[in-house]
Amino acid sequence: MPNRLTRIYHDLFSLDIGGTKLAAALVRDGKVTGRNQIPTPGSQKPDQLIAALATLLTPLVPQAKYLAIASTGIIDNGVLTALNPANLGGLNRFELVDEASRISGLPTLAINDAQAAAWAEYKALSGPVQNMAFVTVSTGVGAGIVLNGELQTGPRGIAGHAGHMLADPTGPRCGCGRTGCVEAIASGTAIGKAGQAIFGPDCSGQTLYQHALSGHRDAIAIVDRSARVIANLIADLRISLDLDLIALGGSVGLAEGYLDRVKHHLSTLPATYHTDIISAQCGPDAGLLGAADWAKQQHVS
Ligand SMILES: [Zn+2]
Repeated sequence: MPNRLTRIYHDLFSLDIGGTKLAAALVRDGKVTGRNQIPTPGSQKPDQLIAALATLLTPLVPQAKYLAIASTGIIDNGVLTALNPANLGGLNRFELVDEASRISGLPTLAINDAQAAAWAEYKALSGPVQNMAFVTVSTGVGAGIVLNGELQTGPRGIAGHAGHMLADPTGPRCGCGRTGCVEAIASGTAIGKAGQAIFGPDCSGQTLYQHALSGHRDAIAIVDRSARVIANLIADLRISLDLDLIALGGSVGLAEGYLDRVKHHLSTLPATYHTDIISAQCGPDAGLLGAADWAKQQHVS
């Protein structure tokens, strides 16, 4: 497979592979058209994912010149590797770029979905910001980092997986196998689990958050712990990378009152740790937009 694309682009074809849905769309001049979405199949065998990709890709291929993919998991030189084996139904080491290229017949590039979203958020900023991170608090906790105006993907595709930095060594075991990751305490999944002791076994992150908004003290404490962990994660990113700004996204990150809680906890730390935090601006198409623009840049540069 070519590492760099070799055609002139008119239409960019973008695909977003998430834990619960697969979305595909054409991207032209930074706008998404022809969006189509299907549920992500849950299977350890690749056949179902290959069939799902074919369903999504085939109708749009005639209009596209190349394919850009944003995907959950680590994209190591085109191979999709699950950091959390529970994601994608346990599917691991999937030849994503080769399979998508074979199905579509298009030159194909792929990056992690939070990395792609970070690039979209960076491009949406106005002003002189060169160093920033996108942090998403949703089903999991993901991040993408831009330094000196360049998206950091890393030689093995790992860069930016800050949801798996340590938050509490005595905390819950994370899906990645480590104990006490940020994701294991702060994610929507984690706060839902924490709420199950109070609100019953069906308590989801969304349910727990609603209880917090209604003023339930124990629910508020769980949400506030999540926000404190995210504030400390942001402080760690700031002190290690000297970032100018953080864009906070995801269903929890954008939920009512959450950003203010994160800002409050960050404000209790010494001033060197402080950085601007804004709400992410690109919405659910951030992965599609970011992957398309990043792939275009790989060609131009
Ligand atoms: Zn982890």
